[in-house]
Amino acid sequence: MSISQGIRRTLRDVGEFGLIDLLAAEIGSGARSSPGVVGIGDDAAVWRPSPGTSTILTTDTMVQDVHFRLETIGWRDLGWKALAMNVSDVAAMGGRPRNAVVTFGGPASTRVDDVLELYAGMRELAERFGVALIGGDTVASPLVIVGATVTGETLPCGGGDDPPLLRRDAARPGDGIYVTGYLGAAAAGLELLERREPTGGVRDALVRAHARPTPRVPEAIFLLERGVRAGADNSDGLTRQAWLFCRQSRVGAVIDTRLLPVDPSVTAVFPERATELALHGGESYELVITAPHPVVERLRPDWHATFDLPLTKVGHITEPPDVVLLDSAGRPVRSGHEGFDHFAAASGA
Ligand code: ADP
Ligand code: MG
Repeated sequence: MSISQGIRRTLRDVGEFGLIDLLAAEIGSGARSSPGVVGIGDDAAVWRPSPGTSTILTTDTMVQDVHFRLETIGWRDLGWKALAMNVSDVAAMGGRPRNAVVTFGGPASTRVDDVLELYAGMRELAERFGVALIGGDTVASPLVIVGATVTGETLPCGGGDDPPLLRRDAARPGDGIYVTGYLGAAAAGLELLERREPTGGVRDALVRAHARPTPRVPEAIFLLERGVRAGADNSDGLTRQAWLFCRQSRVGAVIDTRLLPVDPSVTAVFPERATELALHGGESYELVITAPHPVVERLRPDWHATFDLPLTKVGHITEPPDVVLLDSAGRPVRSGHEGFDHFAAASGA
C-alpha cells in the first residue's frame, strides 16, 4: 500500500478486527505484561486488585456534537480528554486509577489514522497517570463516540472496613471550602473555540485548558492522606459542586466570589466575565474539598513544597439549606445550583 493510501485508510478498509489489532499495537504491551492482567485479545479483561483496597469504578462517555465537535478539538486531545474525565472521577474519590476499557464508535468513513491519534492521546494520559488500557469495544455509529470505564483502587482500608475516601456527603458546618489550581480557563477556552475566534498567545492557554485538562490524582491522595474527607472534582462548575455537597451532606454553603482563584488568562481575555466563568464554568478538573481550618493549615506547608498549585479558600460550609454567593461588595446575591445539566443543555438529544 502506498503512503497516500495509508493516510486515507478508513475503518471500512481495515474492518473491526483490523482496527482492534492496530489499536492494541498503539496501546502497547505494558498492560499485558503486568502480573495478573489479561488485556486485549480475550473475551474480557482481568486484573488483580491490590490487597486491602476497595475498587472504584466509573464511566463517562463523549458523543460528537453533544460533548465535542470535531471542528474544534483534535483527535489526540479528544483521546486525552475522554480518559482524563474518568481518571478525574477516580481522583475525586481519593483513589489511584488502575485500568481502563474504552468503547469507540464511528462511521465506516472515519480515517484509521484519526482513530490511532485518538488512542495516542489516551495512551499519553494513561502513561502519565499509571492507567493500563486493557480492553474495550468497537462499534459502527453515525457519530463519533468515545466512552471509557476506569477502575481505581482506594488507599488500603487499614484496620477498619471502610476505606479512606473523598466523599460528597462528608462536608460539615464550619468546614472551609477550598479549590486547587485556578478556575475558569476550560470554560473560557470552550467559548473561544465556539466563537471561532483567532487564537494565539494567552488564548492558547485557555484552549489548552479545555482540550487537555489535568486530573488531580496525586493532589487528591495527598489531601486524603492528611485527613481531608470531603471532596469532588469541579467538572460541572463550582456553584453546582457546592450545591451537590449541600445536598449530599445536608449542609449549606457560602461562596465568597472575591476569593475565587480566577485564572489570570481568563481575566486577561474576558475581564468583565471572569468571575462568572470561574464560578459557573465546567470541565475543569480541579478539586473542591471541604475540611476544618486546622486540617488544611497543617498540610499547607507540605502542599506548597510538593505541588506548584494554589490551594485557595473560597468559602465555608454552614447549616442548611442553601448555597449563598457573596458578590464583589460582600453582599449575599443569590443562591442556586447552576451548572451543567446534560438534558437541559441538549437540544432534543
Ligand atoms: P467480543 O466479541 O468478545 O466482545 P471484541 O471483538 O469486541 O470481543 O473485542 C476483542 C478484544 O479486543 C477484546 O479483548 C476487547 O477488550 C478488545 N477491544 C475491542 N475494541 C476495543 C477498543 N476500541 N479499544 C480497546 N480494546 C478493544
Ligand atoms: Mg465487543
